[in-house]
Amino acid sequence: MKDALIIFDTTLRDGEQSPGASMTRDEKLRIARQLERMRVDVIEAGFAAASNGDFEAVRAIAEVIKDSTVCSLARANENDIRRSGEAIRPAARGRIHTFIATSPIHMEKKLRMTPDQVVEQAVKSIAWAREYTDDVEFSAEDAGRSEIDFLVRIFDAVIKAGAKTINVPDTVGYNVPEQYAATLRTLIERVPDADKVIWSVHCHNDLGLAVSNSLAAVMAGARQVECTINGLGERAGNASLEEIVMAVRTRADVFPVETRIDATQIVPASRLVSQITGYPVQPNKAIVGANAFAHESGIHQDGVLKHRETYEIMRAEDVGWGTNKLVLGKHSGRNAFRARLQELGIEMTSEEHLNLAFARFKELADKKHEIFDQDLQALASDEAITPAIEHYRLVSTRFHSETGEIPQAEITLTAGGHETHSKSTGSGPVDAAFKAIESVAASGSELLLYSVNAITTGTDAQGEVTVRLSRDGRIVNGQGADTDIIVASAKAYLNALNKLHAGGEKLNPQV
Ligand SMILES: [Zn+2]
Repeated sequence: MKDALIIFDTTLRDGEQSPGASMTRDEKLRIARQLERMRVDVIEAGFAAASNGDFEAVRAIAEVIKDSTVCSLARANENDIRRSGEAIRPAARGRIHTFIATSPIHMEKKLRMTPDQVVEQAVKSIAWAREYTDDVEFSAEDAGRSEIDFLVRIFDAVIKAGAKTINVPDTVGYNVPEQYAATLRTLIERVPDADKVIWSVHCHNDLGLAVSNSLAAVMAGARQVECTINGLGERAGNASLEEIVMAVRTRADVFPVETRIDATQIVPASRLVSQITGYPVQPNKAIVGANAFAHESGIHQDGVLKHRETYEIMRAEDVGWGTNKLVLGKHSGRNAFRARLQELGIEMTSEEHLNLAFARFKELADKKHEIFDQDLQALASDEAITPAIEHYRLVSTRFHSETGEIPQAEITLTAGGHETHSKSTGSGPVDAAFKAIESVAASGSELLLYSVNAITTGTDAQGEVTVRLSRDGRIVNGQGADTDIIVASAKAYLNALNKLHAGGEKLNPQV
């Protein structure tokens, strides 16, 4: 019998802290449902004390998720912990994850506390958390740069106070595999009652070592890995869930652990997260990149055709590739449409919402004969049918572009319910469209990123556009999909403006 490796997903917390990746409550719910379907053990749903919106999102997830533990992050203070405790109260299984910095530089410069005070605060925090749940996790922030004697001391104290999971994060992505594994080994050896708790790791990818460090720690005795879909997260990101899961599975001969993840849900999860956050997946990304299973060279293709294992160590269908089957067409009815959305974890909040989405689907089916799951996902995240935030809405567009002439765009949109019309020229039709929108919105924001991807293959595929805008230090991602990429661009721009308009402040704990 192998040990269980607990998969702790923090896409909704650490992942959400990527610039512009902040999500609405409904978007978080959709991802949480997909994580549950994938059989993730623990879902870190957010940071309940950060804002009312975060609190509501964690609570909503705690209400609907039954098979996974729902966790809220909390700094080691009474208010954060009580907010987290309230937010996870409805959960079938709820966890509070509290943290405090333990490295000399963080204790002295950031917390301005002595080591004794830090230990005392940590112990008090575990006691507050245990008023709400027995499932309490403690993290020593910046453990990777902390003194080992101090870590032994604080972990001993919090275990005595009742912490059940001890997390040793490499917050700044500074560790290398052998040394990180040695740290885990030393801690497990030296901390009293180390065998009564689960040892956990949380690695950042600043040196491209997040997955390697996590796996080295597993070999040294860690039994929980904190990770995210697509490796999303602060700066260079976290360890990527799909890589951890597939490494452990593919090299079962090496790892003494197994996960309970349903790997066929990996690719759908990857797409959903990419679509919602506006972070595209690089084509050569392991497991979930578009090229991850594509064999270009003739020698490889020949080998794979003769005998698959010659060049393939995993099967594409085992991680959910190839599930992109034709699902709906022009003649599909409203019930089939609703049923497929439900299977994809897309919840329509009202009949009106469903009707609006169905109307969009019919429009799309007229332009594009085959509708795939990805089309439905794009359609469901379309700003026009997401009722939460839509100050601006696209009504119609007209473009003129011809070789040797200056491109021109005309846009009709509603702003706060009032219809307005504007016109502009630009260096290309997309530029003209954005200028026309800005002449109405006057957002004063700066365009940081513009990218186009095809959602499915073929020239009738929908183009999916991501637009990243920045204003006064706030960064948002907007997305839009359409068979016409200029229309998709206008939708993406308006989606980003709507997010800026919706406001919302966030705290950024960097565990
Ligand atoms: Zn982190």
